[in-house]
Amino acid sequence: MSFSDLGLLPELLRAVADKGYDSPSPIQQQAIPAVLAGRDVLAGAQTGTGKTAGFVLPILQRLAADQGHGTNRAPRALVLTPTRELAAQVAQSARDYGKHMQLRTYQVFGGVSINPQISALRAGCDILVATPGRLLDLAQQRLVDLSKSQRWVLDEADRMLDMGFINDIRKIIKLLPQKRQNLMFSATYSDDIRVLAERLLHDPLSIQVAPRNAPIELVEQRAYRVPKEQKRHLLVHLIQEGQWRQVLIFTRTKHGANRLTQQLEGAGIQAAAIHGNKSQAARVKALDMFKRGQITALVATEVAARGLDIKELPQVVNYELPNVPEDYVHRIGRTGRAGAAGEAISLVSSDESGFMRDIERVLRRSIPILPTPVFKIVESAQPAAHADRGSGERARPQGQHRQQHAQGRDARRAPAAGSGTRSFGRQ
Ligand code: AMP
Repeated sequence: MSFSDLGLLPELLRAVADKGYDSPSPIQQQAIPAVLAGRDVLAGAQTGTGKTAGFVLPILQRLAADQGHGTNRAPRALVLTPTRELAAQVAQSARDYGKHMQLRTYQVFGGVSINPQISALRAGCDILVATPGRLLDLAQQRLVDLSKSQRWVLDEADRMLDMGFINDIRKIIKLLPQKRQNLMFSATYSDDIRVLAERLLHDPLSIQVAPRNAPIELVEQRAYRVPKEQKRHLLVHLIQEGQWRQVLIFTRTKHGANRLTQQLEGAGIQAAAIHGNKSQAARVKALDMFKRGQITALVATEVAARGLDIKELPQVVNYELPNVPEDYVHRIGRTGRAGAAGEAISLVSSDESGFMRDIERVLRRSIPILPTPVFKIVESAQPAAHADRGSGERARPQGQHRQQHAQGRDARRAPAAGSGTRSFGRQ
């Protein structure tokens, strides 16, 4: 199938060709005709499947067809996203796909000054991409009129609910016109999502697609057992010995992300943190530097990293395991994109074995545990003394180090899977 089989306008076909896409992805094949026909859609699809073009292309086409709606340039389509990064990404996609059309896309989110957003909204736009909090702020001050947004998309609905946006979403829905087209995208289906979908959608077309790269096939997954307080030393060893150039590292908390970033920098590894307490400018800068290869490690919390589109990421590290197994699948799904093989490494402390077993149950496979390599424990006086509070490890003077003889073998010589490895599931 080609894009021209989907009934898209020549302007959109040109934009898609400019992007270098050969053929529509499965979600695009199903969503585009349905949205063009005006149907509601409920799609189970995560980042990496091409879902954004799946809703942006037909929305652009429908908006182009409804030109001449009057002089009021209140947004005629609304996309709600859980995070600022995703909002910026979706808005950029809409500009890219709509570059041969006369339609304007604008994005609003918190963490940046509201004034330029107010001015831009006054000037008018056709598609508004927004995070819920800032959008409500603007709506409550009557700075944005959503009564013309007859098409709207709830992107990453599951993440929206996880982040506690349900009340905001309800308030926003009340501001939309009664007669409208509703599109909902969610990577996972919980009961809450089903309830929301039933309330929101009218006779929707349900689409379910597998992640573009099933992580199980394309990502080499492995784990190391390591005491909590030694994780950072092992991580430094893995990055340095493996000469990693680009690694996305997940921590559970914002504070943990900051602390690990400092510790990596202390070990001479260029790193930056990305999480909800960072300003928008800092997050964009960190992501940009990471994409350009100016920093080696991007340390992220789950929520901040959600929806980031980083091409062909070679390495993902679960510095701490997520307690929701599906989050593991999303995290490691960021490697091995576009057919490139990726590697996902989990550092598992004894208190996380239960999480690991849950993950293996969801994946229906075991994750090999590799013998822990010999690594140095280098402690710097300042940050480590602070960082290790409560961990039981005493800080040593700067530069002093000892060696960890875990199993006396180097990771690179360890088998990747099979006989020499163990699994959490089989313990
Ligand atoms: P998304 O799932 O919307 O975040 O898209 C993931 C990535 O896939 C983005 O970098 C898109 O530019 C790319 N993409 C979207 N559709 C296609 C397609 N039909 N062929 C190749 N790449 C695509």
